[in-house]
Amino acid sequence: MSECIFCKIVEGSLPSHKVFENDDCYAFLDIFPAGRGHTLVIPKKHVRDIHEADALTYSKVAAAAKDVADLLAAKLGSEGTTVFQMSREAGWQTVLHLHMHVIPRWKDDGLHKPWDIAPADDADLREVLQQITK
Ligand code: AMP
Ligand code: ZN
Repeated sequence: MSECIFCKIVEGSLPSHKVFENDDCYAFLDIFPAGRGHTLVIPKKHVRDIHEADALTYSKVAAAAKDVADLLAAKLGSEGTTVFQMSREAGWQTVLHLHMHVIPRWKDDGLHKPWDIAPADDADLREVLQQITK
């Protein structure tokens, strides 16, 4: 049996609050939610993160996240949606089974961006673009 808690949720050996399921993906409520209806969307097969996922698997999770976002908006009357996908420790991933956070949003929900907004230095933009595209 898998040691991965999200694989255990897919297998049914750990409980979850199922929101959505299709052939490839499973979605359930986050038990430490950022807000009402915060849902995690995962592939049923174990894939660690964005870098280890093949493009088809990642796209299936993204498509399921879109369905879940629409479902939550329709049922909860949310005014917007934030989708997060963290990969690896440096990317803030804590559960090492690929997942997308789908967070219904309201204008007055009090959540804030996890980074400070500041204008980029144009030389920095050109330097990083050169490294990415050379
Ligand atoms: P991340 O930090 O992106 O890896 O997110 C992992 C998320 O999984 C966190 O938001 C946790 O609250 C959530 N989580 C961990 N264990 C469970 C569980 N058994 N059921 C539902 N959500 C969980
Ligand atoms: Zn897993």
